[in-house]
Amino acid sequence: MRKPLITGNWKMNGSAGLVETFGRAFAEIELPSPVDVVIHPPFPYLDAARRAFSDTPLGLGAQTLNPLSSGARTGEVSGQMLGEFGVEYVLVGHSERRQLFQESDEQVYERVVAALQAGISPILCVGETLEERDAGHSEEVVLRQVGYVMARLEPSQRRQMTLAYEPVWAIGTGRTATPEQAQQMMAAIRAYQAGFDRELAESLRLLYGGSMSADNARALLAQQDIDGGLIGGASLKVDDFIAICQSAG
Ligand code: PEP
Repeated sequence: MRKPLITGNWKMNGSAGLVETFGRAFAEIELPSPVDVVIHPPFPYLDAARRAFSDTPLGLGAQTLNPLSSGARTGEVSGQMLGEFGVEYVLVGHSERRQLFQESDEQVYERVVAALQAGISPILCVGETLEERDAGHSEEVVLRQVGYVMARLEPSQRRQMTLAYEPVWAIGTGRTATPEQAQQMMAAIRAYQAGFDRELAESLRLLYGGSMSADNARALLAQQDIDGGLIGGASLKVDDFIAICQSAG
């Protein structure tokens, strides 16, 4: 049985006040069934979030990390530093990082390894562009991204991973993959994993991301191979995010 994970990526949004709002709101609610809930605020808010979330079910995530543990990398943050602030999860390979910061599959892999070495669970994001989908290459692209990382990890490392399927054309566009489209890709990812680690394939959490909202979450989360959501825009609105969490499980 896979425990659902709902995780909110604030990107370069939010404020110290929003951290407080989430801390207060989540201290008062009781989620209907077991679900892991995580917020990935921008780096400057991590410490405030750790304090604000301490009496809530909210866990702490980061949005990226540098592959090195320290050194001359102006503006960057290492996994070790994130660990000091109680970060449990980190996004790696988000399409904005791949596209706007030219992160290659190799660099994504290096970041995954750095996170694992720091004791932080990577959430590996994968997804095809609209052109790739229209050309009929969605599955090939996604399985290449998954395989590039997963096939290089030790079995014990693979067990620390979460995968997020985020079709690039659905991120921040209001255009969601249908539950059937999302389920089809999740089943392909799970079948691919089963090809070299059947036990892992059963336990691996697969998240859907791409314009998930309070309105469409229930239908997406009801799919057999969707174990949670990676939420962008809707994770900035506390009521919407709580409604999504309540749809899980
Ligand atoms: C994301 O940034 O990972 C994301 C899924 O964003 P949105 O929910 O806004 O599409």
